[in-house]
Amino acid sequence: MTTILVVEDELAVRELLAATLVGAGYQVLEAASGSEAQRLVSDDDPALILLDWMLPGMSGLEFAKWLKRDERLCEIPVIMLTARDEENFKVQGLDAGVDDYVTKPFSTRELLARIKAVLRRAGSDSSELIRVGNRLEMDLVQHRVLADDQPLSVGPTEFKLLHFFLTHQERVYSRAQLLDLVWGRNVYIEERTVDVHIRRLRKALEPYALENLVQTVRGVGYRFSVRPS
Ligand code: CA
Repeated sequence: MTTILVVEDELAVRELLAATLVGAGYQVLEAASGSEAQRLVSDDDPALILLDWMLPGMSGLEFAKWLKRDERLCEIPVIMLTARDEENFKVQGLDAGVDDYVTKPFSTRELLARIKAVLRRAGSDSSELIRVGNRLEMDLVQHRVLADDQPLSVGPTEFKLLHFFLTHQERVYSRAQLLDLVWGRNVYIEERTVDVHIRRLRKALEPYALENLVQTVRGVGYRFSVRPS
């Protein structure tokens, strides 16, 4: 399920946004301020952030700048909600790395269309399949993985791990990073737990000779790559 973090201080607007998103099949996290959003975004790794410009304390723009400076979080797309349809604000937001804008008041249809478009660009639209070549395929709606068109039997953690790898290919992650990004920062488990699940994932891929996609990078961690290690 695709999770969207809504950052909006006005309760009525936030609830309306949350209801709209839940109705459209998204999972929703809510934050009333930038600092609350900072905590949630680190813990829950949302697929997209809907960010109000006018927030008490840290402004939406400041939050976006903070997010885009963090190498682990900077890839989370941001749609800014603003009452100001002025070129100057848009430029400031785009400079800060904001992906798109929705000007208030907006229609539900427009908002959902923008969200879908941004998620698609970011490669995390849950209505689409994630494919690796023509042999491995993950369907997030049906929550299943196919290898050579055969359903792969993977546990929930292996599914999450594989999903993370599929959306973050060709990059090396340490065990600590994988724990943070796949298990979440509030979970305190040992780093060797990662190895256990990597082993299980490889074992599931083995019958299709795809286990080498999950590569060990000695002294560093793991990488999902379609290129030979
Ligand atoms: Ca506001």
